[in-house]
Amino acid sequence: MTEATQNQQTAIRVYYRTLLSAWGRQHWWPAQARFEVIVGAYLTQNTSWTNVEKALGNLRKARLLTIRGIRRTPQSQLEQLIRPSGYFRQKAQRLKLFVDFLDARYSGSLTRMFARPTMELREELLALNGVGPETADSILLYAGNHPIFVVDAYTRRILERHQIVSRTADYDEIRLLVERALSEEREPKRSLYGPAARAVGGPSGSSHRPSRMSTSARTGMVQALNEMHGLIVGVGKTYCLKSQPRCEQCPLQKFLPAAE
Ligand code: SF4
Repeated sequence: MTEATQNQQTAIRVYYRTLLSAWGRQHWWPAQARFEVIVGAYLTQNTSWTNVEKALGNLRKARLLTIRGIRRTPQSQLEQLIRPSGYFRQKAQRLKLFVDFLDARYSGSLTRMFARPTMELREELLALNGVGPETADSILLYAGNHPIFVVDAYTRRILERHQIVSRTADYDEIRLLVERALSEEREPKRSLYGPAARAVGGPSGSSHRPSRMSTSARTGMVQALNEMHGLIVGVGKTYCLKSQPRCEQCPLQKFLPAAE
């Protein structure tokens, strides 16, 4: 490993520990079951989580937030139920395609599907209509507890502003960098969990209330990748705004490289 790579990885570990210590567990993903995470990962594309919650609420109320529910619901009805999440025709069709894939390839079993090696399953998910790297990795990490990092626009912006990655870095380069940096993380000590461990907190509502999925058993690395994504969303939503970042209040300010 080059010295530059070592420095990048060290910086990411330090950011992770600093944010975790300040804000505690973020309790991603807010869901009661794996399939709910998958539906949420599709629905959250190009919309806010508030709208996703409305669509999930409709499905839950109709008792259709299950594999069987999506399978047996006519597409037109599904479209109306998920309408609040936007692009509802496209999303309804894609949810049905996912269930078709699950049925054809894994006899409808998420357990069988998630038993696949991470990269093989990732390729299969990426081949599905409407599944890009962020959606595939959200499904793998948050529904399947696979050790994979979800790179979003906030991750890129923060790492670029801190000169940890270049503007030309691609998705997988950033993903691998974070995964390697956090690969030896263990379940954090309680003292590292910060105030949000005691009361749901963190910046600007980026943390969630504990849920069945957020508290499920997972390895230290998966837990770290899980938390890191939530913490980065917190930084991005509250401080690292696209224009006029609020560096003075940001917990990562002390790591910001001096302007040239
Ligand atoms: S707001 Fe400033 S200090 Fe915080 S992550 Fe963004 S660039 Fe860094």
